[in-house]
Amino acid sequence: MFVCVSKVGVEGRDFQEYLDVLGFDSNSCFQQSSVKSSIKLPQLTPSSGEEEMNTSSHPNTLAQLEHLALECRNCSLCESRSNVVFGEGSPKARLLFIGEAPDESEDRNARPFVSEAGDLLDKMIVAMGLKREQVYITNVVKCRPENDRTPQEEELSICSNYLSEQIQIISPDVIVCLGTVASQSVLKSKTSISQLRGKFVPHPELKNANGEAVAVMPTFHPEYLLKSPSEKKHAWEDLQKVMKRLAQPQ
Ligand code: SF4
Repeated sequence: MFVCVSKVGVEGRDFQEYLDVLGFDSNSCFQQSSVKSSIKLPQLTPSSGEEEMNTSSHPNTLAQLEHLALECRNCSLCESRSNVVFGEGSPKARLLFIGEAPDESEDRNARPFVSEAGDLLDKMIVAMGLKREQVYITNVVKCRPENDRTPQEEELSICSNYLSEQIQIISPDVIVCLGTVASQSVLKSKTSISQLRGKFVPHPELKNANGEAVAVMPTFHPEYLLKSPSEKKHAWEDLQKVMKRLAQPQ
């Protein structure tokens, strides 16, 4: 059963366009959104890799952490980058999207998800009744691998310390991992995205103030959805589960 979302605060054309692409009757789908815009900031327990980060003082804000990342040469990806792509969005976002690594456009613009795949992610966010500025978007690794190759295990491992710190500072209620690399890296799993997607998985390390593991929803990467449009309906089902979770009383 599909959860419908509101037109309120949403660019109706983009929303309708996305639903049309998915083959849904958008006119019968509009109703008041139950996705809350209020922000909650639970405390998270420290990650196990925290001590491995090369920091002289512990960063308490995204700005401090970004400052460290901009100077970072902790792995070989510093050689292939033009810019560090740290991430962007609300520092108090309840919803965090995590992709794999910056591509050429992201590297050039120093912003995550700005290419065609980024446009699709924007439409997905709008279809959820949210704006891009209300969520936070980043990648597991912050520097572009040469020729957009898949990041290596060591690079993912080293750079994931920044991601862990980002998650702790933002304290999202839900994390959406986009694609195989992000999902496997965040969940420390070898399971395929086809098997992982569609089900909430507790984050293996991070907990909120209630002592509950942060909920992670693996789903397909927008880049994959562009190549396999028939899978968009599955991604949309996953995102509707996320919307439902965000709408639950805190
Ligand atoms: S990918 Fe991450 S760890 Fe490697 S140089 Fe860039 S910021 Fe540092």
